Amino acid sequence: MADFFLTGGCLCGSIRYEITGPILRSYACHCNFCKKATGAAFRSAIGVNRSSFKISGDTLSTYKHIISEHGRALWPSFCGRCGTGIGSTLERFPELQVINIGTLDKPEEIEVSMHYYSDEALPWICYNLTDTVFHEHRLNADDTPAIPRKI
Ligand SMILES: [Zn+2]
Ligand SMILES: [Zn+2]
Repeated sequence: MADFFLTGGCLCGSIRYEITGPILRSYACHCNFCKKATGAAFRSAIGVNRSSFKISGDTLSTYKHIISEHGRALWPSFCGRCGTGIGSTLERFPELQVINIGTLDKPEEIEVSMHYYSDEALPWICYNLTDTVFHEHRLNADDTPAIPRKI
């Protein structure tokens, strides 16, 4: 994995980033927060170690958002110039940097077969039979693994 390298950036080009470490997970999240935060039907994202995520150009803009269901904070990050949502960092997983797949230069290289919060998914969303689909998060509130649903 020594050569691992992904690049991406925002729409206007003010924000550029590199990812020098492995992708820890890739997923689609159908929760209501991700719908609002992305303006899309669901978020598609990868998680990497924060230490492997390097920004160049402008600094990311951010704000603190508290999820009302559990009271934990997260910090969406976006380009202050064009508004492209780059990703977020999370109180629950402090080492993790979430990156929205659409901001990668080659998003087609990322495979997504895991879905979070299908209980909040829009009614027209379809899954592949081989996908892993969770009702909510892949971890329960007590950090035990959640059981995926049958498709
Ligand atoms: Zn921008
Ligand atoms: Zn979500």
